[in-house]
Amino acid sequence: MAEIHAFKVGYCTHPACMAVKGAGLRPRPFPSRAYLLMTQSGPYLWDTGYSEHFSEEARGIYTPYRWVTPVHYQHDADCLETQLARFGVWPRDIRAILISHFHADHVSGLRDYPGVPMMASRFALDAIRKLQGLAALRRAFIPALLPKDFEERIQAFESTPARDLPAALHPFKQGWPIDAGGELWAVALPGHAEGHMGAFVQTESGWQLLAADAAWAPEAYRELRGPAELSFLIQHSRKEYYKTLAKLHALDGNGIKIHLSHEM
Ligand SMILES: [Zn+2]
Repeated sequence: MAEIHAFKVGYCTHPACMAVKGAGLRPRPFPSRAYLLMTQSGPYLWDTGYSEHFSEEARGIYTPYRWVTPVHYQHDADCLETQLARFGVWPRDIRAILISHFHADHVSGLRDYPGVPMMASRFALDAIRKLQGLAALRRAFIPALLPKDFEERIQAFESTPARDLPAALHPFKQGWPIDAGGELWAVALPGHAEGHMGAFVQTESGWQLLAADAAWAPEAYRELRGPAELSFLIQHSRKEYYKTLAKLHALDGNGIKIHLSHEM
């Protein structure tokens, strides 16, 4: 059975109502989380959170990114490699970095894992390839955060055929197996960003879902309270977002634990 370890890798601040409608304009921190998934096949990483590369690359045309989401990142305390080392895991040990989507707060650390394979959805890859300048900024994507040999190391989750998920994961029906032991499955969670993905992980205490940015706070899926309407200026599809949120609501009702990338 796999183990899930969560890390806080920096945070940004935003009005609380961006996460849940009616939560007010008071700024609250949104931690950026990365997850270490220890499987029988070895360690996997789910996203990377922020890194020092974010402040280096959020400049020029990408500077507004820093104004909209002021980022707090402490060199020592927030560094993901330092946090992984406490588990005896070094970058070279990682089997693959699983990318939920390409918003900068999820992929800022990719360059710190030289040679490590990466996986993302085909839709997400199609959406970011050749994306530059203002068009990239509007999708919260900073191309320079990708390693130079990104194209050689990236693989689509969908490169293996989709298969039926266990009945316990209803209403999710199909996913893409990631590891050889069947403990890790990629699953489409559309709405937040093009090709936005989640992952089911089989642990000792049952299946759990890494849901990335399908919601920004647990109240959103528990009470079906979406984020501020303004947020849909940067999210991909409001309609798909609410369909995914309803599925998370059902999954939560079935007792499946859900991890969000920005929950407190
Ligand atoms: Zn996002």
